[in-house]
Amino acid sequence: MNRALTVREADRQHLWHPWSPLDSNHERLVLVEGDGSHVRDDHGRTFLDLRAGTLNATVGYSHPTVVQALSHQAGRLMTWDLAEVTTLPAAELAHRIASLLPPPLGRTLFCNSGSEATEAALKIARMWHHIEGCDERMVVLSYADGYHGATAAAIATTAAPFRREGTGPLPNGYAHLATPRCAGCASGTHHEHCRVPGAVEWEEQILAIGPENIAAVLVEPVLSVGGVIVPPPGRLHDLRALCDRYGMLLIVDEVATGYGRTGRLFGFEHDLNAQAAPDIVTTSKGLTGGYAPLAAVTVRDDIYSAFARDPLLGGLRHGHTTGGHATACAAALAVLDVIERDSLVAAAADRGSQLLALLQMLTECVGVRDVRGRGLMIGVEMASIELAEQVSRAAQDAGVLVRGFGPVLTVAPPLTISADEARMGAEVLTDAVRAATTVAVA
Ligand code: PLP
Repeated sequence: MNRALTVREADRQHLWHPWSPLDSNHERLVLVEGDGSHVRDDHGRTFLDLRAGTLNATVGYSHPTVVQALSHQAGRLMTWDLAEVTTLPAAELAHRIASLLPPPLGRTLFCNSGSEATEAALKIARMWHHIEGCDERMVVLSYADGYHGATAAAIATTAAPFRREGTGPLPNGYAHLATPRCAGCASGTHHEHCRVPGAVEWEEQILAIGPENIAAVLVEPVLSVGGVIVPPPGRLHDLRALCDRYGMLLIVDEVATGYGRTGRLFGFEHDLNAQAAPDIVTTSKGLTGGYAPLAAVTVRDDIYSAFARDPLLGGLRHGHTTGGHATACAAALAVLDVIERDSLVAAAADRGSQLLALLQMLTECVGVRDVRGRGLMIGVEMASIELAEQVSRAAQDAGVLVRGFGPVLTVAPPLTISADEARMGAEVLTDAVRAATTVAVA
């Protein structure tokens, strides 16, 4: 007779954890519930979530408005095939997104994840050039340290060997722009003496490839997985100008930054205005606040209209069974309501300044290379991955969860975090860093 497995046994025997070493001998947390900015494990221990899950829990856990919207829609019509029909939440959400972005960014295709949104955005850009009679425009440029997802085209957009190695032949047609981070001290903060790659280097590269071969430039406004790198002011503006000069589309990946995370509704707003907006914007994580899988690819109206001239369909030959899932769209509408009603974009800017100021004191510690950020997306760069892991474990033992991307600890809590919670989180992290760095230099 089969004995029922405990959750830990079932996990150890059958669950394959993504982006995670198999020989990990630390005991994983078993999370069972969450409320506001906190999650609880099966031993009843409570943790302050300074990482918003995977940067997606923007309105916190068990938010009654979202939970109610989700269960209401699931109990009515969970979803239906958007190739054939429309549904109330999908149409309303597409309309809502259009109202949040500057025109002519007015048409949205829904997918399920950030990676799918990247794939769709790149396909749309290339297909659009094909429809316009520019078949040779196939190359996509992206920052060498960028991250746009885990699928084939998405990993081709990054130069990081960690993501590419052993994955077999990747699709052709990708080139990497020097990441706009200091080339001398390799820090993500820009000091006066720093030389940060920008328009001059990028234009040289574009001319070497031949602008007539390039379909699009794809970038994040703030690099997330790449280590919370905040490009100096004006870099998106420079890319917009290069795209205009050479007929390339500008695709801005707002999967991590969209819907308030950086203290503006969209990260590109720090650099671009309605007169010089992106041509395509992808969003995902904050769209549903983590309550359901959903991603959006929003394009200029005229890019959409051009697909009427696609010779095989007269439309976009792309889509997924659950893209635009009605229940996920209902959750997204509720999340956007909460963000607006509770002024969470302004809150992210305020809490972000508070947290950044507290954490920047850590730069005095030996072992901390840099502290930087924008809004509630802050990176504490440690001298090594080992040190970052040590700090992250110590913080967890003290009841605070942060996310490590290599040597960079990412602090990106729910936008709903209170000032007291932010202060307490910063204190715990500071203690953990001080303890680790004191030991490290002793
Ligand atoms: N783009 C950015 C900027 C991201 O940060 C991520 C994920 O972290 C992705 C795309 C991929 O999203 P997903 O993990 O939902 O496929």
